[in-house]
Amino acid sequence: MPETNKTETELDAVIIGAGFSGLYQLHCLRDRLGLRARVLEMADGVGGTWYWNRYPGARCDSESQSYCYAFSDELTREWEWSERYPGHAEIRRYLNFVADKLDLKRDIRFSTKVTSAQYEAADNRWHVATDSGDRLTAKYLITAVGCLSTANVPKIPGLDAFRGQWYHTGQWPHDGVDFRGKRVAQIGTGSTGIQAAPVIAETAAHLTVFQRTANYSVPARNAPLTPEFKTYIKENFDEIRRTTRSTTNGHPFVISQRKVFDVSEEERQKIYQAAWTKGGLQFRAAFEDLLVSKDANDTAAKFLKNKIREIVKDPETAAKLSDIDHPYGAKRPPIDTDYFETFNRANVSLVDVRADPIAEITPTAIKLESGAEYPVDIIVFATGFDAMTGALLRLNLTGRDGLKLAQAWQAGPRNYLGLQIAGFPNLFTITGPGSPSVLCNMPVAIEQHVEWITDCIDHMQRNDIARIEPTEEAVNGWVQHVNDAANATLLPQAHHSWYLGANVPGKPRVFMPYTGGMATYRERCNAIADNGYEGFSLSA
Ligand code: NAP
Repeated sequence: MPETNKTETELDAVIIGAGFSGLYQLHCLRDRLGLRARVLEMADGVGGTWYWNRYPGARCDSESQSYCYAFSDELTREWEWSERYPGHAEIRRYLNFVADKLDLKRDIRFSTKVTSAQYEAADNRWHVATDSGDRLTAKYLITAVGCLSTANVPKIPGLDAFRGQWYHTGQWPHDGVDFRGKRVAQIGTGSTGIQAAPVIAETAAHLTVFQRTANYSVPARNAPLTPEFKTYIKENFDEIRRTTRSTTNGHPFVISQRKVFDVSEEERQKIYQAAWTKGGLQFRAAFEDLLVSKDANDTAAKFLKNKIREIVKDPETAAKLSDIDHPYGAKRPPIDTDYFETFNRANVSLVDVRADPIAEITPTAIKLESGAEYPVDIIVFATGFDAMTGALLRLNLTGRDGLKLAQAWQAGPRNYLGLQIAGFPNLFTITGPGSPSVLCNMPVAIEQHVEWITDCIDHMQRNDIARIEPTEEAVNGWVQHVNDAANATLLPQAHHSWYLGANVPGKPRVFMPYTGGMATYRERCNAIADNGYEGFSLSA
């Protein structure tokens, strides 16, 4: 029956979001368990983060043979990636291919934003409202909203009166932006800014990069995949899958077991040089102790800072770019194509806004506290996201007894395994805070969560279980464990990191992703399920 406004559609499960997570969750619930499931998606197409992130240079940092679903041999056989790292358009093509192949789109409502969802104990259902006036109810509510989907545009005075154009990279216009002949300001030097700057510089009249925190970057060494490598992927996918599922970060390579000071200085330099030449995130796999020992990390940091000074010709610019205040890998390490080389171009300059912060945006310029002004035509905000919690809080979720998520998480996110929140029965959060999520190659983390949730729902359906929610005790234990795991690494030492929520003014500073490693986490989740969902309260 066609859905009309104000009717209440009864379903078994509502899934919010049609990216990697939502698509696979729909397939599992509808096609494996036979449930009535529907996806609600704000955009008018599938893709999730890749629907929105179409900025110049947007490309995945995971290698393509691992940045895909691994659950279906058929999908693997029929899809072929073209480059070492897939670009944003190719990933959208891939997700459309999957959605069409699995006939998913008929159960996705596009251009539909969830405005609220409320759990009612009386009927043990979630009541979901959307901006198109639809009302849906379901026993299960599953958020597949991504970790990096709520754009963070800093509240800089004067932006409203800026007479030029401005864009956030995470909400990039589908028709692109023409930079020819324009003076462009780019604010932000995270993974996004580092990808965007070299491409913007190719056509802009002038690009000024406003850097608050200098960042490490390793060359991606992107290239077309050779026919031999394409054959290797097809013939060895089982092996690739085994590796991605058994490693800490879900990547198709293994972190070395040697420690930094197990080898001589000369040997160490050779290892770093080889990793630099190979390129990509594998650099951090060169030694086992890079993220846990400051002394060990210092050797990598020194190597990478030296590389910046070698590449960048102007000594003052090189000094600003290499003045990095955190250990390598403590923030998400970017990889790049000619980022540092871009500062050797005559049409590119760097401004240090740590030393001289942005004070305001005038109708025609960016003005610093010192009074210095940079006239610009276009501002690109590569300023990141209200990560991990932003998209969940925006859903306006209300659990048992009128408990709002914003209240429950006033002091930061609290949940069990990153999967469930006390007071919010039958709500599952795919790659929620407190799970490995962003510290893992995302499709690997997503598949594990989706499959665990599917098994849990299957268990509930077969055993007539009405509700599942974690106990307070389990939540307390998990939150403590996530903190302990983070503190055993160098990651909390990057004080400006979005891992800590530090990039959004007023956001509670809590280390959000789980640093214990994907493989360990997977084992733990499986053991908990095998033990009758230990830490959860299940009721008939
Ligand atoms: P980000 O890492 O949060 O970087 C934002 C940048 O904007 C930082 O340099 C930040 O400086 C700066 N900034 C924020 N507010 C500012 C202000 N008011 N004034 C001046 N500078 C300001 O965001 P992102 O680069 O979009 O990356 C977010 C995450 O998305 C990545 O870490 C990664 O996980 C993912 N990502 C992945 C890929 C990929 O796979 N290819 C590509 C892009 C992004 P501070 O550091 O001082 O806060």
